[in-house]
Amino acid sequence: MHPATRRAIFRRLQAANPSPTTELLHTTPFELLVAVMLSAHTTDRSVNAATRNLFPVASTPAAIAALGVEGVKPYIKPVGLYNTKAKNLVGLAQQLLERHGGEVPSTREALEALPGVGRKTANIILNMVFGEVEIAVDTHIFRVANRTGLAPGRTPREVEQALTATTPAEFRRNAHHWLILHGRYVCIARLPKCPGCIIRDLCEYPHKTPPAKPAKALRRLPLPSRVRRARARNSGVRLPQVSASPSADTDRSVSPRRPRRLRRPSR
Ligand code: SF4
Repeated sequence: MHPATRRAIFRRLQAANPSPTTELLHTTPFELLVAVMLSAHTTDRSVNAATRNLFPVASTPAAIAALGVEGVKPYIKPVGLYNTKAKNLVGLAQQLLERHGGEVPSTREALEALPGVGRKTANIILNMVFGEVEIAVDTHIFRVANRTGLAPGRTPREVEQALTATTPAEFRRNAHHWLILHGRYVCIARLPKCPGCIIRDLCEYPHKTPPAKPAKALRRLPLPSRVRRARARNSGVRLPQVSASPSADTDRSVSPRRPRRLRRPSR
């Protein structure tokens, strides 16, 4: 993709949403870490449904560790793989208490050493909490980057490297949010909403969804004669007079009956 096209794509995404952010509910770095960790293989909506119940009860590493695995499970049941995630969550809380004084660490190594935290989660925390220019590639970003031609790659890591290398500096901080939101709501997996897409003319995807066909023209039904006459009157056309009989709608005056033939008397 030409650098000017790439820049134009990000300019449009920025103009449409100047301050993008995550849709995961959180108020502290620890809550964000928990929410991102829980979001693996599940939707943000499910995660929010879980954390809405969990955070009022336990929103610190100490509180999560005190709840224990069995105590955490009922709160995070809305998310997929909640048994494994409950174990990881309590392990993560204990590790933060033991090694980081209960704080979220600021290095990739320390983050990725936490149970249930991979490269994607670490990138999001580094980007959103510590202001580092990291682009976390999830399934939505992977799809958008490949379809549009922004950063084609066979693996999330390849796409991440391509995006990091080619995204103009001024857009790198928010690129993750713009692309994830675009993939979640517009460039969706099954039938991308290309006709209404704001970067349609810049996108290089060869199989764009075509615009919907216009609805079939409504069949023209014959109008009652009084309606035809009213329309003709309004447009200045003169139609033959109709008798004011109850059956005026039949327009008999327009095609009068033929006179009856007289039969010859038989011989
Ligand atoms: S034009 Fe279609 S394929 Fe391209 S980014 Fe927009 S929605 Fe996705």
